[in-house]
Amino acid sequence: MTEKIIIIGSGPAGWAAAIYAARANLNPLVFEGALTHENQLRGTLPLGQLARTTDVENYPGFPKAIMGPELMTAMREQAVHHGTRVITEDIVSIDLQRRPFHMVDSAGAAFTAHSVVIATGASANYLGLESEEKFKNHGVSACAVCDGALPRFRNKPLVVVGGGDSAAEEGIYLSKFASVLYLVHRRENLRACRLMSRRLLSHEKVQPLWNSAVQEVMGDDENGVTAVRVKNLKTGDTHTLPASGMFVAIGHTPNTGFLKNQLATDPHGFIVLKDSARTVTSVEGVFAAGDVADPIYKQAITAAGMGCKAALDAERWLATQGIE
Ligand code: NAP
Repeated sequence: MTEKIIIIGSGPAGWAAAIYAARANLNPLVFEGALTHENQLRGTLPLGQLARTTDVENYPGFPKAIMGPELMTAMREQAVHHGTRVITEDIVSIDLQRRPFHMVDSAGAAFTAHSVVIATGASANYLGLESEEKFKNHGVSACAVCDGALPRFRNKPLVVVGGGDSAAEEGIYLSKFASVLYLVHRRENLRACRLMSRRLLSHEKVQPLWNSAVQEVMGDDENGVTAVRVKNLKTGDTHTLPASGMFVAIGHTPNTGFLKNQLATDPHGFIVLKDSARTVTSVEGVFAAGDVADPIYKQAITAAGMGCKAALDAERWLATQGIE
């Protein structure tokens, strides 16, 4: 049986698309991702990036915050309640040249669909240090907007790593909370746009450490991160910065490997939307939603909004094909 719509991905974008598609009688099938060690390492386990965070304070409707996994489980339940079917596997290959679209999951099963929503998200890049891994959610974060306002970071020295627009944006945001903000960058100039760079570097709390790399995140079980050891790449000198948090802003990698270049992407690999107000991709009948197609906002609420739009776009496109 050819599905009317297959949704790949299980973050806010995927579940919002599923809820709208199910209520529109499209009988959606969601591939939520496989429970594998590899996915755990890549950070692409089912339920998206929020399933790996703690308090979510900026998703509307939860005045006292909600735990990330709880929010994602509720979204999944809501989608299932409306009739969404869920398979706990990855889509490992897909053929978007043939209609209906053909795909194979990680259990080896084959599926076809008239329309597809890609909502596989993006994985934040980390430095790859063992000590960084140890303190994730205990002072190490890759999202200042998600975590910066938490009490543990307020009026404390903080570190931001990176030199692009994300690092500048995260740094400007964190400077509201930090007592001092160390910017650690491996070069001696930023690649962020001039306006953002100026705003960041002119802030009184910001202290840049150029030509520098983080060597170790230090801390303990009780307090989480307490310091960050940094090495100057030119002189070889190291010194230890007292810090309650380290925010890594060295880019995101969109989860698009399985597409094998069948959709237009930007130079960073994010799926390009043909019309920025909609979710249409370079292949008719294929829609993209959430972080996989959003290098700018990368928020749960914007992903959910895009998921809604993708289901509505798919529904309208299917109707033009006589599929309802
Ligand atoms: P990016 O532009 O790729 O910058 C990544 C930064 O991290 C670079 O400075 C890079 O250093 C550094 N870096 C990468 N790997 C590293 C490593 N292993 N160790 C230490 N440093 C490392 O990524 P981004 O800032 O996330 O931006 C991605 C895209 O989104 C860009 O097109 C950006 O303009 C856009 N964006 C726009 C906005 C906005 O307009 N408000 C906000 C955020 C992002 P090098 O400089 O040495 O390569």
